[in-house]
Amino acid sequence: SDNINRGYGARYGFSRRGVRGNFIPPIKSNGGSTGTMSARVAGKGDDALDDSTRRCLEMLCGPDGELPEKLRNLEPRLIEHISNEIMDRDPNVRWDDIAGLEHAKKCVTEMVIWPLLRPDIFKGCRSPGRGLLLFGPPGTGKTMIGKAIAGEAKATFFYISASSLTSKWIGEGEKLVRALFGVATCRQPAVIFVDEIDSLLSQRKSEGEHESSRRLKTQFLIEMEGFDTGSEQILLIGATNRPQELDEAARRRLTKRLYIPLPSSEARAWIIRNLLKKDGLLKLSQDEIDTICNLTEGSDMKNLVKEASMGPLREALIQGIEITKLQKEDMRPVSVQDFENALPEVRPSVSLSELYIFEDWNKKFGSLS
Ligand code: ADP
Repeated sequence: SDNINRGYGARYGFSRRGVRGNFIPPIKSNGGSTGTMSARVAGKGDDALDDSTRRCLEMLCGPDGELPEKLRNLEPRLIEHISNEIMDRDPNVRWDDIAGLEHAKKCVTEMVIWPLLRPDIFKGCRSPGRGLLLFGPPGTGKTMIGKAIAGEAKATFFYISASSLTSKWIGEGEKLVRALFGVATCRQPAVIFVDEIDSLLSQRKSEGEHESSRRLKTQFLIEMEGFDTGSEQILLIGATNRPQELDEAARRRLTKRLYIPLPSSEARAWIIRNLLKKDGLLKLSQDEIDTICNLTEGSDMKNLVKEASMGPLREALIQGIEITKLQKEDMRPVSVQDFENALPEVRPSVSLSELYIFEDWNKKFGSLS
C-alpha cells in the first residue's frame, strides 16, 4: 500500500525525483486487478508506456510530479492522442484574419474573451455562459472563430469532430470524451471546439441510435455539466450546419447561439484577395475581384479559390510542359475566367433557398446580441 500512496507519477516512474529510475511495478489491488490503467490496457505492466506517451504524461504533471486527479484513471494512449492530435497550443488565428462577421466578433469578445482574460471580474452576475453554438452554412468561418477565440484569449485550443467520435473511435468515444475534458482541465484556459456537434447531440432517437451513441451523448452532457458550475475556465464551442437537429438539452447547455451567415460581397472579396495573396498569386484588379464577387453568392469560397488557382497550372500542362519541369513563371496569373470555370465545379455550400432554415432557427433560438 505504501507504493500506492506514492501516487501515479511515482508508479509510472516519472516522479520529479528521477524519471524511470525509481520505477515501481504495478501492484495488485484489492479486487485483484492491477493497480494502473496502462497495465490493464497493455497487459504488460507500466513499463509498457513508450517514450512519447511517458513524455506526454510528464508534461501534464503538476509541480509535485503527480498527474492531476482527473487524468489518473484515463488510458495513457488516449491522453497522448488528445495532447498530440486534438490540442493546439497556438492556433495562430486572430480577429483580423476573419473577414466580416462583425456582429459575431463583438458578441464573442464580450461573452467569451473578456471572461477568459479576466475571470476575477466575470463572476457572480457577470459570470459567462460556458457553451457557445456557432451555426450556419459550411465554410463560413466557424472554425476560424473558434481558433481566434483561443488565440485572442491565450487559451489552449482543442478541436474534435463529433463525427469522428462515432466513426473513428467506435466504442471508445466515451473514454476519449473523458480524456478530452480531463486534459482541457489541466490546460486552462481552454477552448474545446466540437465540430458537427449535431451528430453528437442530435434529437433523433430510437431507430439508428445505438446504445453506444446514447452513452456517448450522456457522457458528453455530464462533462459539460461538470464545468458549467465550477470555476473552471473552459469554454465549449459547438459548430453545426444543422442546428435544427439539436435537442433541447443541447440547446440549454449552449447558452449563446450565434448565426454565422454566408460572407457578404465585401467579405468574399477579402477572402479571395487574402487566399491568393498568401500564395503570391494575386494579380487581379479590384474591378475583377468585384466581378467575381457578383458571381459567388453562396459559394464555398475556399474551395472556389482552390479550384480557380488550378486553372493556370492545368493550362501550362496542356501546353506540353512536364509537371516535373514546370516553373512558377510558366503559369499565367489566376484570372476571372478561372473563377468562372471553377464555379460549376464547386458545389455551393448551401443553396440560397436553404438559408431560410438558418434564419428561421436563428429567430427562434439564436442570440441576437
Ligand atoms: P466552417 O468551420 O464554418 O465550416 P472554416 O472556418 O473552416 O469554416 O472556414 C473554411 C475556410 O474558408 C477558412 O480556412 C478560410 O480560408 C475561409 N473563410 C471562411 N470564412 C471566412 C471569413 N469570414 N474570413 C476569412 N476567411 C474565411
